[in-house]
Amino acid sequence: MNSSSVMRFRRGRRWGEGLEGKVVLRGEERQQRGIFVELLILTCLILLVVSFILWYIPYLGLSNIHPKLPLILAIVLGVALLLILCGAVSLVITIYWGREFFISRRLRGIVIEVLFPLMVFWGRIIGISRERIQQSFIEINNQLVHSNSRKTKPARLLILLPQCIQDFDCDIKITGDIQNCKRCGKCGIKDLLELAEQYKVKIAVATGGTLARRIVVKMRPQAIVAVACELDLTSGIRDTYPIPVIGVLNQRPNGPCYNTSVDIAEVKEALFHFMEG
Ligand code: SF4
Repeated sequence: MNSSSVMRFRRGRRWGEGLEGKVVLRGEERQQRGIFVELLILTCLILLVVSFILWYIPYLGLSNIHPKLPLILAIVLGVALLLILCGAVSLVITIYWGREFFISRRLRGIVIEVLFPLMVFWGRIIGISRERIQQSFIEINNQLVHSNSRKTKPARLLILLPQCIQDFDCDIKITGDIQNCKRCGKCGIKDLLELAEQYKVKIAVATGGTLARRIVVKMRPQAIVAVACELDLTSGIRDTYPIPVIGVLNQRPNGPCYNTSVDIAEVKEALFHFMEG
């Protein structure tokens, strides 16, 4: 597919279907981005207050040891805070601008390693569910991956699927080798296999985090399009960092972990991002 047809596809694509088959509108994308930015601001404010307390409490004692010690501590804390605030501002600009800005490659690492655990903590305290925070994290991760324009060869791309996409009554074992699928069309595996063949990318099915990690180590992909629920996508994105992962939420019309499906258009768009850069 040439680049103009890719752009046509992107323009014409309906935004993907989300949880329990509901259509996720652009508004929901904005909402998820909003949750992330709000929690980011809250985290920065709390760090500001904590830094002030860390400086103020020993202030009295430190000045007794040496009159310049409070100033040195204030400079150290001030520099640390400035770095955190600069990181937060770059992150917000990258998210809204949609392009690589300044240190956005490093930002994904900071979000994954530092901010996400803090945001889950603050989010729970102010009453935002873990699932909403995970959706917001996946959305922000995807945007940061999108903001980076590095091309990936199809042979180094991996589509990683959860086993629950396979029809529950199908006896064929596809976890070891997805090519065992007989392509009867009763579940989405057939279409996803054909998509992988069409673009010559790797494809695999994992039953859980351990097998997913083993597949990634064995196949050594440069980039991954992962399909799963909020929980598995969040842990998968964090486990495989620094490999760029675009997470696509599965659809669960029959409840969790049972005969799930995925919007093929969304998987295709993620593949195009990596292939086109
Ligand atoms: S497409 Fe058919 S053969 Fe393949 S996994 Fe699904 S149900 Fe089984």
